[in-house]
Amino acid sequence: MARPIIMTIDDEPHVLNAIARDLQAHYQKDYRILRAGSGNEALEAVQELKRRNDPVALFLVDQRMPSMSGVEFLREALKLYPETKKVLLTAYADTDAAIASINAIDLDYYLMKPWDPPEERLYPVLDDLLSDWLANVPVPYDGIRVAGTRWSPSSHYVKEFLARCQIPYQWLDIERDKEARELVESASGERPRLPVLFFPDGSTLVDPDLGALAAKVGMTTQARQPFYDLIIIGAGPAGLAGAVYGASEGLRTIVIEREAAGGQAGTSARIENYLGFPQGISGADLTRRATTQAQRLGAEIVTAQAVTGLRVEDPYRYVRLTDGTELSCHALLISTGVEVRRLGVPGIEPFVGGSIYYGAAASEAVYYEGRKVFVVGGANSAGQGAMFLSRYASKVVILFRGDSLDRSMSKYLIDQIEGTGNITVMFNTEITGVDGAGHLEAITIKNNKSGETETVPADAIFVYIGAVPSTGIVGELVERDEAGFIYTGQDLIRNGRRPKNWKPRRDPLLLETSVPGIFAAGDVRHGVIRRVASAVGQGAVAVSLIHKYLETV
Ligand SMILES: Cc1cc2nc3c(=O)[nH]c(=O)nc-3n(C[C@H](O)[C@H](O)[C@H](O)COP(=O)(O)OP(=O)(O)OC[C@H]3O[C@@H](n4cnc5c(N)ncnc54)[C@H](O)[C@@H]3O)c2cc1C
Repeated sequence: MARPIIMTIDDEPHVLNAIARDLQAHYQKDYRILRAGSGNEALEAVQELKRRNDPVALFLVDQRMPSMSGVEFLREALKLYPETKKVLLTAYADTDAAIASINAIDLDYYLMKPWDPPEERLYPVLDDLLSDWLANVPVPYDGIRVAGTRWSPSSHYVKEFLARCQIPYQWLDIERDKEARELVESASGERPRLPVLFFPDGSTLVDPDLGALAAKVGMTTQARQPFYDLIIIGAGPAGLAGAVYGASEGLRTIVIEREAAGGQAGTSARIENYLGFPQGISGADLTRRATTQAQRLGAEIVTAQAVTGLRVEDPYRYVRLTDGTELSCHALLISTGVEVRRLGVPGIEPFVGGSIYYGAAASEAVYYEGRKVFVVGGANSAGQGAMFLSRYASKVVILFRGDSLDRSMSKYLIDQIEGTGNITVMFNTEITGVDGAGHLEAITIKNNKSGETETVPADAIFVYIGAVPSTGIVGELVERDEAGFIYTGQDLIRNGRRPKNWKPRRDPLLLETSVPGIFAAGDVRHGVIRRVASAVGQGAVAVSLIHKYLETV
């Protein structure tokens, strides 16, 4: 814990100097002594201290000050620091006010001026109060604090981003924590936009976009140079594998990721089938290992920056980023994966990110301790999500359109679900309606076979209903199938003919798209097996094919 603070406030400079001098003499080793010449000046300092989460052990304040009395100051300061000890410095004439404030603000002591000799009249009193404070005060959290409401979607996105970047933070729910609400209001007014983030250096961010947040927490959000041998779009398993192999094999390599690194795998609570991890590995852990490895080998990873468009001007390939910058390269690897399919239920949008989540079990489960939650879907991701949620929620109900999980979910997960007492599966069901004031309170479930509907209480829905490819950025540039997945290699050869406008006198390489030098790997490809190992394998193979391509440029 940082050295706690003793703050003394007096409008008369000679009194302020005298008390500060005596405090320094006795407490300097263990406490920081701060002084202020008025209640207002002190309140500003108190707000700043709270933003940094610095501990304040004691306020020693003169009662008689012109613009704000000592008691008035303490009343305000205590909203932010309720545990701090409060001592009023009074003249004989003010004792009535001091006595009244013992009840009004729970004053700990009033000290009569003058306090000489301090060894007898000051230190024993303060020693006693400070040892009491030290014995009872909770150790303040000295990392990032995120203040918001549980139902606020933007609070959810911030928490999700920090969790996925593995940056620890403390969550302050302003609906439950009065002190947190005061702190938020002191930083951004009475009707604050949420969330408000407080950093240990005393700075704040109010409802930041991902770029501002990523930059503030020290992530790389800008490329270091304008040209690379290899630009990789998307930092899921395929992109990160491409980065590890590209950088280790001497290519100047950059990965551009629109959110946090890790892709879908990064949101998985436990990946049990990835080679070499007999106990399974969490997506967060796998991501941390992969990003560290890629960076150690020399790859740049830029996060919170999306690629918004591609163009080709032979022999170079160009990508445009959200901030308008353009980067160029010899070879491009598209590993943008897939994104979750949205639940087509009327009226759900206001709840998304607040009590209806796409994936996100890992970051939100803890807030549903003892509550009833629903999981929609019947594939492995739904099973993993349900298992994770079952550690916190009192009841997890899986809603699945099919009549058996056997064809869509791995056997090990079905066994785990069957062996978990607080998970039930409702087959042949779908959600047809949602209801709630501010946050989800009830859902309507329809049985597809009988046609019957029922409305039941629900605290949250976690949706895992498949995926659509993230390929909007390629437009007409590269060939895609009807669903939007990218064709590569031999899939591009139709009736023995190479793709339209194809110039090289060779067929497209295994993972090459219909544009030479633009490759695709992972879930984004047409006809691929969607697995972590498969994506990693393709990312690695793509790099060896890129070497082949580069020999021809
Ligand atoms: C909850 C869950 C659990 C899973 N569990 C398992 C499991 O246990 N075992 C298993 O083998 N597989 C599992 N999978 C599947 C596995 O995670 C995927 O097959 C794998 O992540 C695919 O990797 P990828 O790199 O191809 O794409 P993704 O993981 O989808 O990564 C693509 C990345 O590209 C980024 N991106 C997209 N568009 C842009 C753009 N325009 N600009 C910049 N970046 C962009 C995305 O933000 C994302 O980070 C699971 C999937 C989910 C959702």
